[in-house]
Amino acid sequence: MKLLEDRICSEGVVRNGDILKVDSFLNHQMDVSLFREMAREWKRRFAGSEVTKILTIEASGIGLACIAAEEFGCRAVFAKKTAGSNMDAEVFSTKITSFTKGKVYDVVVSKRFLKPEDRVLILDDFLANGCALLGLMDLVKQSGATLVGCGIAIEKGFQDGGKRIREMGVQLESLAIIDSMEGGTLVFREE
Ligand code: 5GP
Repeated sequence: MKLLEDRICSEGVVRNGDILKVDSFLNHQMDVSLFREMAREWKRRFAGSEVTKILTIEASGIGLACIAAEEFGCRAVFAKKTAGSNMDAEVFSTKITSFTKGKVYDVVVSKRFLKPEDRVLILDDFLANGCALLGLMDLVKQSGATLVGCGIAIEKGFQDGGKRIREMGVQLESLAIIDSMEGGTLVFREE
């Protein structure tokens, strides 16, 4: 998606070789007009999929999921990284290793919010090694809901998450795929 690629080029900063910092528009300060265009693009790519629920993980996916839920006309639910005291006892639970923090989180979603009749689209800001997506896919599987596919803002194509998930036969729609960031120069995959 050209609009997103242009924004990454103008505002993205490469850190430690394999981390892309895009916190001026994606995951700290948020450009909601850009999110709207991204949500429309996912709606186009998943046309006819009859999505009933958008699933993401806190915190960075929540803004994207909210705008996308409006476009798809459904609700958004985010997986929580810790089970707080007012969390339902009945939860689907999985473990996710954070790529940026190197920590393992227990991640939960209340059983009230994912049902077997749901058709779920998973969204997230980044795809690196695929831990976050695989964990969210596990929650969908536990619920008996149907996974429609996964939408990602920025996929780092030089890490193997995208390959692993596509090989599982999942429809994965990344709006920008970066195949290399060597020397701070971004190389995008042609659509
Ligand atoms: P994965 O689980 O696919 O290895 O990593 C995806 C998760 O790690 C995303 O939810 C995202 O928050 C974080 N992440 C991975 N790579 C980057 C990156 O280059 N920049 C930022 N800002 N977050 C990243």
